[in-house]
Amino acid sequence: MLEPIDVDDETLRAHVAGAQIPALLMTVAHLTGDYSLLRAEYRPAAMPSQPRGGLTDAAEADVREQALQALVRLRDGDIEVPPAPKPEELRRITSWALGSDTEDLVPLLAEQIVLAGTDPKAPTWTKAQLAPGREFRVAIIGAGLSGLLAGYRLAQAGVPFTIYEKNPGLGGTWLVNTYPGCRVDVPSHLYSYSFAPRLDWPDHFCTQDMVLDYLRDFAHRNGLVEHIRFGVEVTAMAWEENSSSWRLTLRTATGTTGAVCDGVVSAVGQLSRPRLPAIEGRDDFAGPAFHSAAWDHSVDLAGKRVAVIGTGASGFQIIPEIAGTAAEVVVFQRNPPWLRPTPQLRQPIAASAQWLFRHVPYYAQWYRFWLSAPGLRGLLDSWIVDHTYPPSERAVSAANEQLRSLLLAAIQTQLADAPEIREHVVPQYPVGAKRPLCDDGRWVAALQRDDVRLVTEPIERITPRGVVAGQQESEIDVIVYATGFEASRFLAPMSVTGRRGLDLHAMWDGAPRAYLGMTIPGFPNLFCLYGPNTNIVGQGGSIIYFSECAVSYLLDAVRLLLVTGQRALDVRKDVYDEFGAWVDHGNENRAWGFSTTSGWYNEGGRSATNWPYSADEYWRRTHHIDPADYDIA
Ligand code: NAP
Repeated sequence: MLEPIDVDDETLRAHVAGAQIPALLMTVAHLTGDYSLLRAEYRPAAMPSQPRGGLTDAAEADVREQALQALVRLRDGDIEVPPAPKPEELRRITSWALGSDTEDLVPLLAEQIVLAGTDPKAPTWTKAQLAPGREFRVAIIGAGLSGLLAGYRLAQAGVPFTIYEKNPGLGGTWLVNTYPGCRVDVPSHLYSYSFAPRLDWPDHFCTQDMVLDYLRDFAHRNGLVEHIRFGVEVTAMAWEENSSSWRLTLRTATGTTGAVCDGVVSAVGQLSRPRLPAIEGRDDFAGPAFHSAAWDHSVDLAGKRVAVIGTGASGFQIIPEIAGTAAEVVVFQRNPPWLRPTPQLRQPIAASAQWLFRHVPYYAQWYRFWLSAPGLRGLLDSWIVDHTYPPSERAVSAANEQLRSLLLAAIQTQLADAPEIREHVVPQYPVGAKRPLCDDGRWVAALQRDDVRLVTEPIERITPRGVVAGQQESEIDVIVYATGFEASRFLAPMSVTGRRGLDLHAMWDGAPRAYLGMTIPGFPNLFCLYGPNTNIVGQGGSIIYFSECAVSYLLDAVRLLLVTGQRALDVRKDVYDEFGAWVDHGNENRAWGFSTTSGWYNEGGRSATNWPYSADEYWRRTHHIDPADYDIA
């Protein structure tokens, strides 16, 4: 995958000029085994939004020069590409970077900092080795990034599987969300499978079509497409005790049919069921109206008066994009988002940096590590409620207040010329109670346009001609509902029947839970990916990381069934309950659990979606299955 370094010194110097300093330092230390560059004064002062690592000009020049010399030696064969860092090396390099001992992170990092093209998380067994002749079929529901990953790993282990996908194509959320301005708000280099990095992402935060291309390429390259049955929706599944199998009901274009399998993987996502708001008169509107996740591209917005209801992650991306095309954009906002300064949001990755990813061994991996650093250390602390502080709707702790001050200062700088909208742009809830949004200044700029109008009075009703709020009717031609998803309605609208006729939704009774986000007592051999309480909050990780953890666990569970010769793996109720209480306790003591603001992080007074602990905590708990957690029969 890596190409040889074959350029002269001056060209190399130009490429090194585009390097991210913290990643460069770690790469050079690793390649040379010389840790003298990892000095306290070169330790990155800030998290990834500062590509130069907060160094002085002189320090930066020194680092780049030394890196250049190391790469020249590598090019000339004076140093050989080393193997992946040993545990002690990993600890030393990452402890320097994070400013605290990383001994606890080393096993996790050992899976991440590997030469491109290697895959330490691949299963070390195959079904043919463990249980030749035994039939074991897995049904995966959904061909989004989690479902494809599950298929990929099962294929590596030689376990037969079928992916059922209700849409006509793969990609899940990245297939259906085609609204203007749609792009990831996690850095591109984090938003790919760890074992299948894309080294030539064009943008720091890539657009929807780029993610979709990546997933399509991954699926085609790995022969997954032939396992997918497109246009097939699983409407029901029921466990059959006699045969220890799941019977699926499938809706297809030509009618209803069935399938039988030994295990089911639900990979339907958390944010896949659009939510339309219960606003009086919604159906009376005479013009086109659609949800952000079902964008109607046949509607030309040019010259139209467009209402966008909602200013979450979707509305936030849509509004600046359609302003200027529409005659007027009327923004209906309940709560403003907190803005996270992200100057690189719409910027391409410089050609020099692209070159480094393709030519310098381990640079992409150290870069990715650095992008994930906030999720491993530090950021979580800002969400934790300090009951002695005392917490309020302003801030839940001193660290949270400090973050608030940082974000507020960045907003205020943007509002210098528009103090009149200040009260509508500054949130009245603690940072972290909702997803902070990556901002490069376009949001506030859009709100200041003459053809964009911000309405903050609650919507009273929708009429055939427009939207009424604050007793004023805004005449509207097109309504866009950027009102989010039924995030807490896991596995809906499927009917799921477990042992003894147990109905999953009745059992959950509006409070979905799963052990490690995956398994539920009474529903053997059913595994959820991106299931209850597995949403990682804040920058520094992506759902792909969580899915990789969960799929490792899934594979270990399948291995356990195969080696024991047993047929049903059912999580113990006490294990499930204890885990649920621990997760609830964590969530109650996070900004989103404390705040009374609305949103999908905390619906009905409890978070069914969020993981309240660190990213590595999830890795630790999912790395191996503990047979003692299960009734296996
Ligand atoms: P969302 O964050 O749930 O936002 C929904 C918006 O609609 C909120 O502003 C909400 O106001 C408003 N709303 C809901 N019901 C309303 C009503 N009846 N009247 C007026 N306003 C109403 O949904 P989303 O923006 O689709 O984002 C959901 C999640 O998807 C994100 O948090 C993120 O995880 C993911 N996402 C990611 C990206 C990305 O990576 N680039 C892009 C889009 C989405 P309140 O805040 O007052 O409730």
